[in-house]
Amino acid sequence: MAETKYIFVTGGVSSSLGKGIIAASLAKLLQARGYKTTIQKLDPYINVDPGTLNPYEHGECYVTEDGAETDLDLGHYERFLNVNTSQANNVTTGRIYQSVIEKERRGEFLGKTVQVIPHITNEIKERVQLLGKNHEYDIVITEIGGTVGDIESLPYIEAVRQLKWELGDDNALVIHLTLVPYLSAAGELKTKPTQHSVKTLMESGLRADILVCRTEHELSDDIRRKLALFCNVKQEAVIQSIDASTIYDVPNMMLDEGLDRVTLKKLNLPDDTTPNLTQWNEFLKRHKNPKHEVTIGLIGKYVELQDSYKSILEAFIHAGAANEVKVNIESIHSEFINDSTINNKISHLDGILVAPGFGERGVEGKIDAVRFAREHKMPFLGICLGMQMAVIEFARNVLKLRNANSTEMDPATPHPVIDLMKEQKEITHLGGTMRLGSWECTLKDDSIAKEIYGTTQIFERHRHRYEYNNQYASQLESHGLRSTGVNPKTNLVEIVEIPDHPWFVGVQYHPEYKSTVASPHPLFIAFIKAAKEYSQKKKNASLAQ
Ligand code: GLN
Repeated sequence: MAETKYIFVTGGVSSSLGKGIIAASLAKLLQARGYKTTIQKLDPYINVDPGTLNPYEHGECYVTEDGAETDLDLGHYERFLNVNTSQANNVTTGRIYQSVIEKERRGEFLGKTVQVIPHITNEIKERVQLLGKNHEYDIVITEIGGTVGDIESLPYIEAVRQLKWELGDDNALVIHLTLVPYLSAAGELKTKPTQHSVKTLMESGLRADILVCRTEHELSDDIRRKLALFCNVKQEAVIQSIDASTIYDVPNMMLDEGLDRVTLKKLNLPDDTTPNLTQWNEFLKRHKNPKHEVTIGLIGKYVELQDSYKSILEAFIHAGAANEVKVNIESIHSEFINDSTINNKISHLDGILVAPGFGERGVEGKIDAVRFAREHKMPFLGICLGMQMAVIEFARNVLKLRNANSTEMDPATPHPVIDLMKEQKEITHLGGTMRLGSWECTLKDDSIAKEIYGTTQIFERHRHRYEYNNQYASQLESHGLRSTGVNPKTNLVEIVEIPDHPWFVGVQYHPEYKSTVASPHPLFIAFIKAAKEYSQKKKNASLAQ
């Protein structure tokens, strides 16, 4: 294919309409027709990246192979497409301004006045086209964060307007996602908010080519005709996006609505292929027809907001389907776990996952949860901070090292079993300075890890500052907490296991970032399998009584 084609996805009327899922679903359909497709997210906020944001703000911070801290939508892109994204796939206003200001300081603008137009818009255009360079992709889908009409999205909309003009109608198109609300008192779907939002887009000189309408009720032919007429699009370009029971149904729903067909037609690309969704549909079948059920406790401190642990929740869906198991997640706030509540909160579970996190709040509850899982031989998976809590619990309760801790929680602890490494101690800047992205790990023989991965060399993504302190390694090992995965270059411990427990694994890295529909993560698959066996054993024991 000659030129890379660009698709822009904008949003109107309201936020949280699921632009990311629509972009990912369209990309999936185009990929399933053989087009090499990638997705990019432009975020209008001023943080340089979401790495310094509290999860309560925008949910989880997703990490790519190359160590970019990004918006959680990139997680959806990878989970749908099974293709890695990178730093170039997420750009914020902060990063755009940072790079323009750095250029200005280097004198690159040759004495000109630096302005939003053209300098900021040029920088945006460059970042969009960066992914299309070298013809690595046939199609680049760019999702513009926020809602049209927001002051902060204006430079992005202007950049899209210019690009569309420069690239031509065959090479660029705009999909506008809007809301068609249902007024129950009138018993009617209303098109006016969509008309207004398309008008707002037009005030910035941008015409929507395709409308994707979020709705709770089917759009009648009449409504579709009305939307087409008043919003200046063909009727076939009015696409209904009705609420789905799972996000993984959306590609098939978009296929039924013909979103991929209209897109290809508008871009002047052949649409004579049919998307090959065999593997995707096989996953859906397994996901929707489970043969067993388990309940996993997700122990964390950001549990009020589902998006905080997005990738973990999705990894459970993938692993559940692989095992034909329905995975119920019980989110448990670690701050409310203590001696008097623990039995009530945890004993009925089939497995415990202690979540990643930062700071002191809620860590004692996490340590209590680890202890429960260890002592009751309940399957346990600790991720990042969860693994660190497992080491602390073991040091305190098995090695009897009183007040053992991580120096993140207690800088004066007498037993810093988790500590900062020398390089981290010298860092003062917070943004982008953790151990980030993909790192190698060598797995030891006779370990659960090696059995699960079926190899001795793995690469997993990281996002943390503190590390297992090797000064305590021999004590921990000799008492039964084995380090079974180690970074071959730095000797840093990546995985701990308790061989004298049916399934107790702590990992310093984040396996959840690499789990996709096409390739569910082996650790999650094995954890769910262990939880299933644990639940069956419990059932058999209660039947025998
Ligand atoms: N706060 C811990 C650290 O920085 C763990 C981070 C995490 O769980 N992602 O090492």
